[in-house]
Amino acid sequence: MSIGPEIHVTLPDGSTKTVPAGTTPLDVAKSISPRLADAAIVARVNGDLFDLTRPFEGDASLQLLTSKDPDALYVYRHSTAHLLAAAVLELYPGTQLGIGPPIENGFYYDFLRDVPFTPDDLEKLEAKMHEIEARDVKFERVLTKKDEGLAKYRAEGASMKVELISERADDIFTEYTLGPQFIDFCRGPHVPSSSKLKVFKLLSIAGAYWKGDEKNAQLQRIYGTAWFSKKEQDEYLAKLEEAKKRDHRKLGKELDLFSIQDLAGPGLVFFHPKGGTIRRIIEDWMRDQYVKRGYSLVYTPHVARHDLWKTSGHANFYSDNMFARMELDDAEYQLKPMNCPFHILIYADKPHSYRDLPVRLGELGTVYRYERSGTMHGLLRVRGFCQDDAHIFCTPDQIENEIVSCLQFAVDTLTTFGFSQYEAELSTWDKGVSGKYDGSPEQWELAERALETAIKRLDMQVKIIPDEAAFYGPKIDVKLVDAIGRKWQLSTVQFDFTLPRRFNLEYVGEDGKKHQPLMVHRALYGSIERFFGILVEHYAGAFPVWLAPIQVTILPITDRNVPYAQEVSTKLNDAGIRVTVDDRSEKVNLKIREAQLQKVPYMLVIGDREAANGQVAVRNRKHGDLGVQTLEEFIANVKSLTDSKAATE
Ligand SMILES: [Zn+2]
Ligand SMILES: [Zn+2]
Repeated sequence: MSIGPEIHVTLPDGSTKTVPAGTTPLDVAKSISPRLADAAIVARVNGDLFDLTRPFEGDASLQLLTSKDPDALYVYRHSTAHLLAAAVLELYPGTQLGIGPPIENGFYYDFLRDVPFTPDDLEKLEAKMHEIEARDVKFERVLTKKDEGLAKYRAEGASMKVELISERADDIFTEYTLGPQFIDFCRGPHVPSSSKLKVFKLLSIAGAYWKGDEKNAQLQRIYGTAWFSKKEQDEYLAKLEEAKKRDHRKLGKELDLFSIQDLAGPGLVFFHPKGGTIRRIIEDWMRDQYVKRGYSLVYTPHVARHDLWKTSGHANFYSDNMFARMELDDAEYQLKPMNCPFHILIYADKPHSYRDLPVRLGELGTVYRYERSGTMHGLLRVRGFCQDDAHIFCTPDQIENEIVSCLQFAVDTLTTFGFSQYEAELSTWDKGVSGKYDGSPEQWELAERALETAIKRLDMQVKIIPDEAAFYGPKIDVKLVDAIGRKWQLSTVQFDFTLPRRFNLEYVGEDGKKHQPLMVHRALYGSIERFFGILVEHYAGAFPVWLAPIQVTILPITDRNVPYAQEVSTKLNDAGIRVTVDDRSEKVNLKIREAQLQKVPYMLVIGDREAANGQVAVRNRKHGDLGVQTLEEFIANVKSLTDSKAATE
């Protein structure tokens, strides 16, 4: 190690160390302090992540990453994935390895094995992982020649590895070992030893196809989570537990809100009466807002000739997301994946002067998109859904105000439905460098300036994402933060320079000449199905009074109280309150328990005394017994909570 030239290592504070060739980042860490060497997870050498135990290859800048660095956590999780695979190979020899990357909050590893893994296996694997951790097994980086590596894995019958190496490996590629059994084709880097990997948990087993393609072999994917501290992991697990309780698929069934039916097909949603009530309120609110904010409501068909989609370009660049065409007697037809071309046809159906603009066409329009089977997820990923979709056609002078109104509308939508936290992302272009964007530099500049100014005028927090715009225009996405801190992409305001050109849209300007209008797509709920799912999870099914499908349930104590209960019900119904009577001959405590489980905001217990005095005994799902009120008082209270869309009750 002492022979050969010396290496100069520059540290983040600017100081330089001269070390012999063969020195590793870990050696440098040790020379600084044993504590630093112990805390280091991975190195950054000349800007790239680098194993602590890999010798420098020349003069270098060095940064030692500890648990404070997010990149270190990523490496830690990737190493934990390897630890899992090493444990699998020890317990279940002969298992073939797919890929095992770190992901947000953890990692997974794909395995090919005839016998399915069980939850019991996860426990055994976790114990084995801790055992390997305690053995202090080194992660070793091995350089392999491509032809030799391929020959070796072919001989072993490791077909997935052969495929990956053939496709991705350089002539000499890196592999990492962990103990005698485990070796994987991997770029690394990794932690130096298994003893660094203390806090992890295996979470679940799922099916996955090799390379995500259902024509390929079905693999078993084991998911896990890994953290630098037990506290962080416990917090994360508690959050997962909370998310499970709020799962809209589970609550959707328990509260009888919606279903997805096998006979009808995956990704197609049935709203049951209670879900339908909530959806109607969501839709009514949006339609009212459209009218208040100067939009015109339109209705358009669900299918159109394939030619329309050729003109719009969707038949070309969007065909993978479209349902197959259907042959009718006169032509081929296509279910709509988007509403835009339909609104364009309405705009283009008559000539426009600048005086008509802006034209804002809005629709709650149902679209159909092809999603691969197996990728559907409750209401969040479906094949048929309704968008609150609007398209704005305007002049360059009008665009800034239009964008401000759109964003204000988006914010009002979020706050109305109880989301106080949100963030915006602005996706911009690359200034035309790559040639992959449509539209003129003037158009892009105008649009991006309008978006930026609108954000400033509304004083929104925004993250700029360079070079992430759609090819046809820049956009703003608004994400909400739900009750347990999860972020959901919701509203989008998107420019389009392409469709107005494809459809030759125009208006006559003040100068008497023809101009192309600017076009903006905007959807605030996004998909109503998805927004509904988010609401269910945000409120854990306990919708605020104004959204609750049943606001009040009346519970007569005995059968002789039923007539007065019916009378009360009629009065509430006349006042526009959503009410049911539970007139079963059951004990009132059982009825209360069930109403509570159904998360009904108010229960009115009706006995002889209430009937005699024309009163109601009020119970609230959160606050319990609220005592006796006159019917008039109670009605006024529920109406005021409903009208004000209050979050309280
Ligand atoms: Zn790896
Ligand atoms: Zn559109």
